[in-house]
Amino acid sequence: MLNLTRQMIEIRSLLLNVDGSHTLKLPSIVVIGSQSSGKSSVLESIVGQEFLPKGSNMVTRRPIELTLINSPEQASEIAEFPALKMYNLTDFQTVQKVLFDLNMAVPLNEAISNDPIQLTIKSPRVPDLSLVDLPGYIQIEAADQPTELKTKIRELCNRYLENPNIILAISAADVDLANSSALRAAKQADPKGERTIGVITKLDLVTPERAKEILTNKKYPLRMGYVGVITKSPSQTSLFRRKTGIQAYVAQQNYEFSYFKEHKSQFDGTSVGTRLLKKKLMKVLEKSMGESLRPMYLNVQQELEETAYQFKVEFNDRSLTPETYLASCVDILKGSVKEFSERFGRPELRSLLKSELDQRVLDLLAQRYWNRPGSLELTNLDELSASNSQDVYWHRKLDLAYNSLTKLGIGRLSTGLITDSIMSEISNLISGTPLRNHPLMCDVIQECALNVLNSKFYSTADQVENCIKPYKYEIEIEDREWSKSRTHSVQLLKEELRHCDGEFNALKNHIGGRKLNQIIQYLETGDKSKDVESINFSPQLIEHGKHGVFLKNRAALIKMRLTGINSSACKFKENKYKCPEIFMDVVSEKLTTTAVLFLNVELLSDFYYNFPRELDMKLSSLTRDQVEQFAKEDTKVRRHVELQQRKELLELVQNKIEDVLSLQKYKNGK
Ligand code: GDP
Repeated sequence: MLNLTRQMIEIRSLLLNVDGSHTLKLPSIVVIGSQSSGKSSVLESIVGQEFLPKGSNMVTRRPIELTLINSPEQASEIAEFPALKMYNLTDFQTVQKVLFDLNMAVPLNEAISNDPIQLTIKSPRVPDLSLVDLPGYIQIEAADQPTELKTKIRELCNRYLENPNIILAISAADVDLANSSALRAAKQADPKGERTIGVITKLDLVTPERAKEILTNKKYPLRMGYVGVITKSPSQTSLFRRKTGIQAYVAQQNYEFSYFKEHKSQFDGTSVGTRLLKKKLMKVLEKSMGESLRPMYLNVQQELEETAYQFKVEFNDRSLTPETYLASCVDILKGSVKEFSERFGRPELRSLLKSELDQRVLDLLAQRYWNRPGSLELTNLDELSASNSQDVYWHRKLDLAYNSLTKLGIGRLSTGLITDSIMSEISNLISGTPLRNHPLMCDVIQECALNVLNSKFYSTADQVENCIKPYKYEIEIEDREWSKSRTHSVQLLKEELRHCDGEFNALKNHIGGRKLNQIIQYLETGDKSKDVESINFSPQLIEHGKHGVFLKNRAALIKMRLTGINSSACKFKENKYKCPEIFMDVVSEKLTTTAVLFLNVELLSDFYYNFPRELDMKLSSLTRDQVEQFAKEDTKVRRHVELQQRKELLELVQNKIEDVLSLQKYKNGK
């Protein structure tokens, strides 16, 4: 079998995905009928399942584009809502519910929406057909609709009723045809009655003689004629023992078949039965689609030329798919991570950790040594330099500071420090790639980096802690190490002093040198019994002054500490109790060197190795839709991808039409 209709329906469905083109439409069968004309029953008896939402309160608010695909291999009907990505639905109550919800999502005051619902039903019992169930024929009749809504409904219907679509106008036999709103609308859209098939339902409600009269009427002649049907068997309409699903379908088919068989002679010369209606629809659709195919081919060709030209002009024919775009973004990121790995290795790790420990040492010493309030601090230092090497008080002080440093939790501290700096570098690197325009992907990448780092966090922290363990009990110092730390401590304090002086100068510039001196003098020596206003200093100036006093004292203390370190006593490691800053620096140097050995291998190198792999794994688990959604977040990429997709789709359609045209030629030539 050549199965032309099937292929044309496929082309029709492909064309539905070519957006922005209203000229690319293959014909479909548009079903219209007023309320209770039996429209739903006709559609359901074609499908063999009850699937349309029922209810009088305007349940059809959107057109339903129904594609029927004959699938002999299928055991029973399955439904799909491609736009909702709902596939393989076998429960038709669910289908009914989805249709109901989709319709109800259109507010009642808007009456209808132009956005069609696409529903595909595959079944061994359906013919290959494409039908549109149109909303609104009920409402046009309803007198209480505001005029603009009526116009809106009419415009939508008219668009669907246009050539080359075929109109299936449904009227009930028990209502005078002169009152059929379906025939009236069909006549308007198709005055010569060339594209309309009349369907007369409920033939069982009138006598066979009357039925024949209607079916052969000359008052409303239609070139494709009328088909009479009985789409409900008494068992379906009966309130008791009501049949549903396939049973209802079989009952209806049997009832209809025996009814027409019983009245065979009366219906002689007429077309009756849903089976015949299906056949007729297939034939008419195939013919109509066949006729539309060549003009459609020319339209597609024209669209394709236009799209191909735009693609050339805008994107120089450069192919880009969401997948290649994602891959290129990730490659750029991987490249930057590689560069980063060359910039950030063991020496950088070392200086990062050492400067953190320098700060910790300064804080610990401040707590233990320079913690007396105000100028008393200075006396503290004097006492220290005057102490003798057996002085237990100073021994204990240094031991406590040393203990605090080695028991700081260097393992976690250093691992956390490195993790944080890698994470912040990763977000810097991302911002240098096109990925910065994709917030969701940035999150995915950061999560990926964090996973790699976290998977090693605890084991690295433990290893580091184990390795520095010996230093918690004893430290052996060489002369070379002592002198190196002495130089470093001097540098560190000089740096501190520079900061302190800088801040003091900024304060001076801010409120004026003379004024600052006056306030400081007042704060240090002045008569505090005088209230602040009487000496003309605002509370804010007093605050500045207090800060000035603090900075002045701090600078004096740093200078004293520098004098201490530079003293001849501090040249020798044996005097470590007099030179806590140098001793603590030696300890922090040793801790840093040992920790960095492990951090470099366990955390940093591991990250550089595993991060790109983890990233690949994560990204390969994304669905096609997710990748497409990602790529289209960037407007330029979206345009590029969409234009390319459009071009490819049109090429595909063009090829398919060519195939069908040659099949047609072959068929006609036979
Ligand atoms: P719609 O409002 O046009 O979709 O019409 P329905 O298909 O819902 O049918 C309206 C009423 O007519 C329902 O109660 C059906 O059971 C009944 N009906 C539909 N077709 C037939 C038929 O062929 N014979 C009889 N006796 N009743 C039918």
